[in-house]
Amino acid sequence: MPLLARMLTAPLTVTVRRGAVAQLGSLLSDSRVATSGHVAVAVGPGQGDQVSSLIASSIVGASMFRVDGGTVDAAVSLGADLRKGAYEAVVGIGGGKTIDTTKYAASLAGIPMVAVATNLSHDGICSPVSSLEYDGGKGSFGVPMPLAIVVDLDFVRAAPVRLVRAGIGDVISNLSAIEDWLLAASCEPVDGLAVSMARTAAYAVLDRQDSVDSDSFLTTLAESLILSGMAMVVAGSSRPCSGADHEILHAVDQLFPGTSNHGELAGLGAAFGFFLREDDESRAKLAAVVRCLRRHSLPVVPGEVGLSLDQFAEAVCFAPETRPGRYTILEHLALTPQQVRERVGEYVRSVDH
Ligand SMILES: [Zn+2]
Repeated sequence: MPLLARMLTAPLTVTVRRGAVAQLGSLLSDSRVATSGHVAVAVGPGQGDQVSSLIASSIVGASMFRVDGGTVDAAVSLGADLRKGAYEAVVGIGGGKTIDTTKYAASLAGIPMVAVATNLSHDGICSPVSSLEYDGGKGSFGVPMPLAIVVDLDFVRAAPVRLVRAGIGDVISNLSAIEDWLLAASCEPVDGLAVSMARTAAYAVLDRQDSVDSDSFLTTLAESLILSGMAMVVAGSSRPCSGADHEILHAVDQLFPGTSNHGELAGLGAAFGFFLREDDESRAKLAAVVRCLRRHSLPVVPGEVGLSLDQFAEAVCFAPETRPGRYTILEHLALTPQQVRERVGEYVRSVDH
């Protein structure tokens, strides 16, 4: 009988709990990621001596590297160090930039990577993509996914709360991205498994009434971000988690750098994406997304990230150029700049009360 199934790439282990970093050494040897202990550890700029001493006692003999900035140059330099040292594996500890830099460096050095996330700002924890800056721009690079994923809730609790909440915006933007993918179904295949994973991840968070103050919520948020990463692995692209919402956030990043973080802009972009679809179901989803963003004090209107309506409209007009070939509600409607300005004004009037 033919084997009518597909094999999926997945991390060997996923650990979400308090105190996980202190157990890294046994995690690495138990899962056979690194048996000799010849391991490199890349630590982000936001992590203090506390992490270093925890690592030193957990992985005896590990070589520590500081990673400054999520750039291609930083990744290439770390990659060269990793190759020189002939390490068995590299552990990347930090926020999105550190993990993305380490992921790319590990792929250059041809060694496995373990991701230890210290905040929950976006779904890159487990994705096969590195988002890195180069020559003033930002690019997404395909890389192997991390071999093991660790989220230490003690570190997440110590991170700035804004960075932890931001992941909520990224995960619920899956709902808008999925509608965009379905809209493109006549010209590209939609992967039902990737859709179900991305949607389940978003719904796990959308209507929860608790907040980042609760370990239970943080665990669900971490799992949802990991599941979103897996959905992208299954799809072989960022499609299930990135539609008009992410086109808008990339446009804001390019036109108005430093406006806000990834997850906050993704949530705002998702709400605007649902506003552009005028059917009843989308209206209900818009209300649910806005309720969720408000509940977690995330931005809903451009003014809350410091953008004027004209600036946001400019970003919406530019958005399709950030992901050529991706078909979303923006390409579908193909609004003129004047129409975009009107729709942005109507959006703000409809949600800003
Ligand atoms: Zn994202």
